[in-house]
Amino acid sequence: TLHKDTPGVSGRVRVAVRLRPRNSEEQSTDADFADCVELQPELKRLKLRRNNWDSDTFEFDEVLTEFASQKRVYEVVAKPVVESVLDGYNGTVMAYGQTGTGKTYTLGRLGDEDTSARGIMVRAMEDLFAEISPETDSISVSYLQLYMETIQDLLDPTNDNLSIMEDPKNGDISLPGATLIEVRDQQSFIELLRLGEAHRFAANTKLNTESSRSHAILMVHVKKCVKEKEGAISCENGGKSHMSRTMKPPVVRKGKLIVVDLAGSERIDKSGSEGHTLEEAKSINLSLSALGKCINALAENSSHVPVRDSKLTRLLRDSFGGTARTSLVITIGPSPRHRGETSSTIMFGQRAM
Ligand code: ADP
Ligand code: MG
Repeated sequence: TLHKDTPGVSGRVRVAVRLRPRNSEEQSTDADFADCVELQPELKRLKLRRNNWDSDTFEFDEVLTEFASQKRVYEVVAKPVVESVLDGYNGTVMAYGQTGTGKTYTLGRLGDEDTSARGIMVRAMEDLFAEISPETDSISVSYLQLYMETIQDLLDPTNDNLSIMEDPKNGDISLPGATLIEVRDQQSFIELLRLGEAHRFAANTKLNTESSRSHAILMVHVKKCVKEKEGAISCENGGKSHMSRTMKPPVVRKGKLIVVDLAGSERIDKSGSEGHTLEEAKSINLSLSALGKCINALAENSSHVPVRDSKLTRLLRDSFGGTARTSLVITIGPSPRHRGETSSTIMFGQRAM
């Protein structure tokens, strides 16, 4: 897959699709029905059934079956993005799909009891910690929830309305009021995620909403000191060797990784909802469709990426397109009952390519 490295030029988004295994309910009640999709991972193809005879075929950068391990999902979806962050670029990993299809499983699983179950966030940190030196480098994280166009700090619930700042010089995005905590090891990172989840649950209880109605956003800032290579050892003075080093000052590389567990993409029946639910649905539609438009613009190499339409896209502005790498995993379930939602998730993924 091509990632154009010229600044200012749009790079395309890498799109993987992941199928969740049947849950116990689907195993019993849908036992007589075939899955609504059929995957051909070697061909990187997915077939969406129309009926018993016909299906439509779609291609993706990766097709991850219900048997794909968390490790493999990390490697194909996130690892290249993490590596580019270590090289000083920004990058984004997002999960898009209907509630219950495995977005949080894919991104946010902590895997306390079973490390093989760990999701992308924890694995990404593992790789980052392995590549930095604690004396000179640093990793700091913020953890946010974006709900109804309001950004809440999940590491400090009193910060419940953060604003986005854009550096007029270089377009860098920052959140001046957000808690930024330096993490030194995996365990403290996991504790921080757990704390954020607890705050998220409390905030959503107070707002009387589900976590699937908001976006959860992890931001990881990596600062890495890169020493220039030592100068060549030269032999001079009649065989008496000495080292001549050109001591260049170390270069600081800064990269930012953003992991976004998006709000559920399911269509809320607007005709039947009112008040709170309707406002939520409108807000989710706004941000997901703004995201879709930006991703389409990148896919089409358009010079205009309409980032200003939502807080979500404004926040991601310096982390997709240009030199930044973007990876999208769309999650789907197997049930024929949700064929319509599955189809619209697949279309979102297709438009991104
Ligand atoms: P979402 O965040 O998209 O709403 P979840 O990640 O909460 O969905 O997943 C819904 C349920 O399905 C959870 O119980 C989760 O553990 C399970 N699940 C999701 N993906 C997988 C998978 N690949 N393998 C096994 N269980 C999964
Ligand atoms: Mg979830």
